[in-house]
Formats: sequence, C-alpha cells, structure tokens
Amino acid sequence: MSPAIGFRVWRIDEMLTGPRLASPHRYAAWLPGLPLKAECNDEWGAPALANPHRKQPGVAPPLEGCTCGIYAYHEADNMVEALTSRLVGGAVLAWGRITIHQEGFRAEFARPLALCYQQMLSAGSTAIPLARLAGVYRLPVIDASHIGVFAAEFGESYLPAVEPSDDWTARLGTSVRRVFGSWLRG
Ligand SMILES: [Zn+2]
Repeated sequence: MSPAIGFRVWRIDEMLTGPRLASPHRYAAWLPGLPLKAECNDEWGAPALANPHRKQPGVAPPLEGCTCGIYAYHEADNMVEALTSRLVGGAVLAWGRITIHQEGFRAEFARPLALCYQQMLSAGSTAIPLARLAGVYRLPVIDASHIGVFAAEFGESYLPAVEPSDDWTARLGTSVRRVFGSWLRG
C-alpha cells in the first residue's frame, strides 16, 4: 500500500540552531531530514485496565483506544481551518501503522512534504518564520489551494468513503492498516 498523505499544523519552536516544527499539543520535535516516530506518553500513565498498550504489548503506536500517533487530516481544507497566526500548516507523508478516522489519521511515522503559504495569514505573522523553516527543512512552500495536488504525487489519501448505510456510525470507529512507505527524497 502507498504511504498516506495528510495535512496538519505545527507550532514553531525557536531553538538556538534555528526554527523547528513542533506538535502544537504535546512535546514532539520534528527534526530536519528525519522522519518522526510516534511515541505514546500515556503508555504507563493510564490505569492498567484502561490502557490499550497493556493489552497489546509490543505493538507500536498508534493504538486504537489510545490517543497516540502522529496526527494529520485527510484534507487540506481542515488544515487551513486549523491555522492561526502562530501556527504553520503543511502536508505530510505517513507510513507504518496507520489508524484511520473519519476526519484524519494517526500514524507511526511521518515526515513533512511541503509547507503551506496562506495569503490571508502571511502578512506580518508567519511569513518570515515560514521562509526560514523552508530553508532548514528543505521543503517547498506551496499555496494552500495547490498543496493537495502537490501532496497527491507522493502517496494516497486514506479518506474513508462515505457509506450510505444505517449503521454508518459504527464505521466511525477506526480501522488500522499497515502502510509501507518510503523515505522518498532522502
Ligand atoms: Zn498510546
């Protein structure tokens, strides 16, 4: 199966060595030139009976029933809606264990494919960090209206088909696939 393409936002962490992409909600630094591997912070903190990792020892994140994994939306529009003046958006390629949800997925591995230039937000907000981030990560900066087409060159969308069925809510759970990805451009 092809690697998954997704869209997400990042916080910008200013380090001594330059700006870094970071997850907005938890500590996870995306290192330039390397894929990020999901880790689970809840692994040992949650009560034993409720902790899915204790029922599936040795299985890499993301697990169903847990919150771990690298998050991305299936569609660029959701990423654009999540943008604020303090965040940057972009496209990612994801592989390994993938937990598919209606709105997006959680993945075991991911790396950024492109950053998103958005005219509405760029004046005086993220425009300068965006250019520096693009240099540090060697990523193209692509207009929000084209980033979906760009990302589709690298992988496949795992957006679930909408099924006209009475028990559709049952399908809003998750399905897990293993996606064999590649480290495309080094
Ligand atoms: Zn977990």
